[in-house]
Amino acid sequence: MKLGWQERGSCQSGDASAFFAPDSERIREREKREAAAKRVCEECPVRQQCLEHALALPEQFGIWGGLTELERADESRRRRGAAGTGRAPVVVPIRIGSQRDRGFADTQAQAQQPSREGTEVAA
Ligand code: SF4
Repeated sequence: MKLGWQERGSCQSGDASAFFAPDSERIREREKREAAAKRVCEECPVRQQCLEHALALPEQFGIWGGLTELERADESRRRRGAAGTGRAPVVVPIRIGSQRDRGFADTQAQAQQPSREGTEVAA
C-alpha cells in the first residue's frame, strides 16, 4: 500500500533499483547508484514528505528524500540534539549530496545556539 504522496514521487515512474543496495555492492558501484538516485530525488515534488516519513518510521534501508541511511541517521541525531536544548529543531531545507551542503545545515544550527560569551564558569 502506498501513501498518497508516494504516488507523486519521481521514483515511481522509473527503475527503483537505484534506491536500494543490492547484496555485495562495491563502494564505487554504490557511489554511482546513490548519485543516480539522488538526482531523481533532487527534482521530486514530494522530497520533504518522503524524508519526514523515512525519519519518522524510521526507514532503515535505501535512499529516501534524497538521503542515504547514514545521512538520515545524521539528520535524526542533529534534530534530537536540537530538541535536547528545549528549542524547536532547526528545519533546514534538504539539499542533496555534498559535505558542503551538510556544513550549511550545521552552520544554521550553530547560529541558533545561545552565545556563551560573558558567562562565568563555576570552579
Ligand atoms: S524523494 Fe526520492 S525516494 Fe522519495 S519519493 Fe521522491 S524520488 Fe522517491
